[in-house]
Amino acid sequence: MITLNNIHKSYEMGSSKLHVLKGIDLTIDKGEFVSIMGSSGSGKSTLLNILGMLDNYDQGTYHLNGMHIVDMSEKKAAKLRNELVGFVFQSFNLISFKNAMENVALPLYYKGVKRRKRNMLAMEYLDKLGLKEWAHHMPNELSGGQKQRIAIARALISKPQVIFADEPTGALDTSTSYEVMEIMKEINNEGITVILVTHEHDIAAMTQKIIRLKDGQIDQIIRNGDLSEFRYKYSKELQTA
Ligand code: ADP
Ligand code: MG
Repeated sequence: MITLNNIHKSYEMGSSKLHVLKGIDLTIDKGEFVSIMGSSGSGKSTLLNILGMLDNYDQGTYHLNGMHIVDMSEKKAAKLRNELVGFVFQSFNLISFKNAMENVALPLYYKGVKRRKRNMLAMEYLDKLGLKEWAHHMPNELSGGQKQRIAIARALISKPQVIFADEPTGALDTSTSYEVMEIMKEINNEGITVILVTHEHDIAAMTQKIIRLKDGQIDQIIRNGDLSEFRYKYSKELQTA
């Protein structure tokens, strides 16, 4: 589903350049549940944003569903994002002056779905995520976990093939984080590819494949079967966390 070949990305920093991704080769199959790890500043968000067509890359090739993703206009990128992908962010990114239902319905507004229909679908997704009673509440009346579930409902409403989540549990306490990860697992069980960024080992250990970034390159890929070893290796850290 996703193939990256020798992807490079730099940011202009005044007169100098910050070379963030230095030749990323990566394949992710349809239906995989993947986490991207690495220290702060290692390029995790940059990579996720390129995968989600929120940002361009400088060199290399990116294929998504067999399409070559290159030099797209913002209009074309927006259309592809609408059709194919859903996003979840650490800070939820809900619109503060819209209620839960309206936030969930928003992607359908951009698809031209009529208000009655999109609100009805939003209620279905809120129900699915156990938030039906909160439909008419504003984001500031909701807990972090509830806000993230609303953001997840919003990501799911346009029936994406892949969900990109950038530190989706980064602003949540441990038990709420695990609830969100359970939801991610269920989403993946329904056949949606899930790619999430995290710097928490226990969160990464819940996925099927861990991609470790270091100094702008892939340092290591740990697959499902090897996760027990990974858990063991970090059990000390987990115990003290
Ligand atoms: P991570 O998500 O792993 O913490 P990022 O991908 O956000 O890392 O950032 C990688 C590096 O690129 C960091 O040093 C960051 O400061 C820098 N960076 C990220 N976005 C920009 C930008 N828009 N302009 C300039 N530098 C950026
Ligand atoms: Mg980041």
